[in-house]
Amino acid sequence: MRAVDIIRKKRDGHPLGPAEIEEFVCAATRRQWPDYQVAALLMAIVLRGMDATETAALTGAMVRSGVRLDLSDLPGPKVDKHSTGGVGDKTSLVLAPLAAACGVVVPMMSGRGLGHTGGTLDKLESIPGLRVGLSLEELRAALRRVGCAMIGPTTEIAPADKVLYPLRDVTATIESIALISASIMSKKIAEGISGLVLDVKCGSGAFMKARPDAVRLARSLTAIGAAQGVRTEAVLTPMDRPLGRAVGNALEVIESIETLKGRGPKDVEDLAVHLTARMVRLGGLTITLEEAEAQVRMALASGAGLEKFRAMIEQQDGDPRVLDDYARLPTAPRREVLRADRAGYVRGFEAERLGRATVLLGAGRDRVADTIDPAVGAVVLARPGQQLKAGDALLELHYSAPARLEAARALLRDACPIEDVPPTEDLWALATVE
Ligand code: URA
Repeated sequence: MRAVDIIRKKRDGHPLGPAEIEEFVCAATRRQWPDYQVAALLMAIVLRGMDATETAALTGAMVRSGVRLDLSDLPGPKVDKHSTGGVGDKTSLVLAPLAAACGVVVPMMSGRGLGHTGGTLDKLESIPGLRVGLSLEELRAALRRVGCAMIGPTTEIAPADKVLYPLRDVTATIESIALISASIMSKKIAEGISGLVLDVKCGSGAFMKARPDAVRLARSLTAIGAAQGVRTEAVLTPMDRPLGRAVGNALEVIESIETLKGRGPKDVEDLAVHLTARMVRLGGLTITLEEAEAQVRMALASGAGLEKFRAMIEQQDGDPRVLDDYARLPTAPRREVLRADRAGYVRGFEAERLGRATVLLGAGRDRVADTIDPAVGAVVLARPGQQLKAGDALLELHYSAPARLEAARALLRDACPIEDVPPTEDLWALATVE
C-alpha cells in the first residue's frame, strides 16, 4: 500500500479501511513514512473526518503499536483521568496524588503542550531532575510503592502517539474528534486501567469551541472506552477562561502545590476534588459521589495528597524540596504587569489568547524540536467579576526575552474586556455526558 494512495483516498473524502489505517499507524511509528506524508494524512483527516468505525480502528492500531499493560497483580482499582486540553489546567498534578491517597492506583500517561494548551509532562519536567520516561519496570515499582506515577508515551506503551502527537502540535492538525479520541484513548487503554474519567473541555480556549462538538467528542471517547472494556465517564467543563491563576509550566506546578496545601484557587480545587471523587467512585471505593467527595476532601485537608505528591516526585527522581521552597523551580528573570486602561468589572481573560501568549513567551512549541522555557508564563491578578480602577493590575507576565514579550503583549491587547456591569455568565457549571 503506497502512502500517497492512502492520503489521496482520505483527501477525496472516502473512509479508510482497517488495513490502510493499520499501515499508516505502523509506518508512522516505525518512521517508515516521512513526516510530510504523515502530516498530509493528518490534515486530510482533520478536513474530511473519520467515522466511528475508522476512529475505533485508528485507536486499536495505536494501542497495538505497543503493549497493553496488565496491572492485575497490583492491589486496588486502576483508574485514570484525562483532559482534552485547556489553558491553566493543572488538575492532573493535584488529582493523581489525591486519588492515590484515597486508595486508587493511577498509572497516568499524559501529554505535552498541544497548540495553545499546556501539557502535564512539560509542567512536571519543570521540577529539577524529574523523569517522565520511566521503563515498564520503573512504572510498576512506582505504582506499588506510591500508588501513582505520571509518565509520557514510551517506545513500549502507545508509541504511535509519541510520534503523531508532536507532529499534530506543529502542523495545525489537533482539532479533529477522531485524532483526539484515538490519541487519548490509545494511551489510556494501553495503561491497563479499568476505569477512566474524562474532562472534556468546551469553550473558546478548548479544541472544541461549541457545545455540540464537545458532546460529540465526549460520546466518541466513551464509546471507545466501553468497546475496550474500560468503564468511562465524561464530564463537560468550561474552558472560556483559564483555570486558576497560573499559566505556564513551573508557575502551574507552584499553583498545584498550593492547591494540595489547601491554599489554591477555588476553581482548581473544586474541579480537582470533583474529578478525583469520580475516580474513587468509579474504582468502587464508595457507592455515592458525595461519600467519595468527603474522602477526597479529607485527603486534601490532612495533607495526605501533598505527601503522595512528594513521594511521587522522589520516586521519579525529582527534587521533592520544591514543595517547601519554590525558589528551587525555574524562575523567569523578568516580569511585566499589564494594567486596566479603564475602571469597571473584569470579564476575565480569553483562555485561548492567554494560552497563545504564553506559547509566544516560550512555554510551548512552534516546531517539534523546540525546547520550552519552563519558567515563563502568566499569572492572572484580576479574577472575573472583580471591580477595578484604571491602572489596577490585570496580569503579570513572566518572561526571558524582551522580543517575545512584545509579541505576547500585542496578542493580549483587548484579551480581558472591562465592562460597566459585572459579568452574569456562569462559566463554571459542570455537565455529565452519558
Ligand atoms: N490530549 C491528548 O492526549 N491528545 C489530544 O489529541 C488532545 C488532548
